[in-house]
Amino acid sequence: MAEKIRTRYAPSPTGKMHVGNLRSALYEFLIAKHDGGVFMLRIEDTDQERFVEGATDIIYRTLEATGLKHDEGPDKDGGYGPYVQSERMKTGIYMKYAKELVEKGEAYYCFCDKERLATLKTEIVEGKEISIYDKHCLSLTKEDVEKNLAEGKPYVIRQNIPNEGTTTFHDELYGDITVENAELDDMILIKSDGFPTYNFANVVDDHTMNITHVVRGNEYLSSSPKYVRLYNAFGWEVPVYIHLPLITDENHKKLSKRSGHSSFEDLLEQGFVTEAIVNYVALLGWSPEDNNEIFSLDELIEKFDYHRISKSPAVFDIVKLKWMNGEYIKAMDFDKFYETALPYLKKALKKDYDLKKIAKMVQTRIEVFPDIAGLVDFLDELPDYDIEMFTHKKMKTNAETSLAVLNEVLPILEAQENYSNDALYAVLLKYVEDKGYKNGYVMWPIRTAVSGKQMTPGGATEIMELLGKDESLKRIRKGIEKLSG
Ligand code: GLU
Repeated sequence: MAEKIRTRYAPSPTGKMHVGNLRSALYEFLIAKHDGGVFMLRIEDTDQERFVEGATDIIYRTLEATGLKHDEGPDKDGGYGPYVQSERMKTGIYMKYAKELVEKGEAYYCFCDKERLATLKTEIVEGKEISIYDKHCLSLTKEDVEKNLAEGKPYVIRQNIPNEGTTTFHDELYGDITVENAELDDMILIKSDGFPTYNFANVVDDHTMNITHVVRGNEYLSSSPKYVRLYNAFGWEVPVYIHLPLITDENHKKLSKRSGHSSFEDLLEQGFVTEAIVNYVALLGWSPEDNNEIFSLDELIEKFDYHRISKSPAVFDIVKLKWMNGEYIKAMDFDKFYETALPYLKKALKKDYDLKKIAKMVQTRIEVFPDIAGLVDFLDELPDYDIEMFTHKKMKTNAETSLAVLNEVLPILEAQENYSNDALYAVLLKYVEDKGYKNGYVMWPIRTAVSGKQMTPGGATEIMELLGKDESLKRIRKGIEKLSG
């Protein structure tokens, strides 16, 4: 039997949960769950300078909220711990394996100081200037090394990559990739503070934690040959590598903080629903066989096939996410919708209304919760509208017909005591029938007069019910006044 799939989400606690991180976590989760495997959480905190207080809490919170429940992690021992790299370091695991590489001649101690390193040749790799180490310390004898160590000289341990030959590795999306060894830098495995680099720790951990599939952003693609060389040096099996395409903004630039919606937290603050975000993020680079786009997490688990991930950059399309969010809001259980909408309604409306009724009216008409304000603001205060709005081609209305209709319905509405939607509708319908008019010919001018808006979350009588008799009449009179010019 094939071994059980084990994937890991391996975030560095450096801040908010970026959309790209969420996508990696989601894909790792889906690959494991699709096959009844194990999804593990590992905290990669070896870069102490980038550590941000509270960032680990964000990771836990987000996994919990999105339903990406990990089977193993710092809080759930599965026998592969510790699950935090700084704690793993204390067990001596990285140093042990680094020394093994030194023994094999695949790594070496380097004692070069800052001044010497500053004189090295530099190269621009992926926009970053890096210095190419010249293997100076590779020529140190065992005795030199021991003497330096005994003197307590600061050191790092570097990977020893020959200048000849090539290294080939396989990525599930990119296929076989072969690079010239001469292009690979002797990267640092153990830093002078004793911590391993990501470059070393990811290999040691993925192997010792029995990880079968590694999903990560393609910024790691160029370093992967070095990782594969480490696996080979140890004689370990290389996991399945899946490097995900870049996520760009609408302008095809790397999605960054400046776009305003690059993190899960940003999106929540902007009124997006967690399920819609997860659904949308799943489609950033992956597509199912059919044309369906709306998937619950369980459906994603069933459908997800990593062979269908695309290599082309995925555009984060906020318009599409908004549409998707609207679909989730429409499908929401009303009580849950009401609970979420309430703070937005309370913020948008100062006067007293039946907020439940308003919530029912807006549920099918918003894409994100902050849309509520713009839909209901006319209730507190009639906006200053243009009489052009009384003209509607299909309803066959204009300023003149509207003035006539409003003048006729005013006494009817003045005499009416019951301002419930149903009662109002019944009286107005009777008027429409008596006159032989079309519905819209009458309702359009009334709705315009009571709302001052082109689009409203409800019809004329629903709005009047919310406003009550006094305010409704005031607005109808105002309409007549405007139209009488
Ligand atoms: N700690 C790395 C990061 O947050 C993880 C990369 C990986 O998944 O291997 O970018």
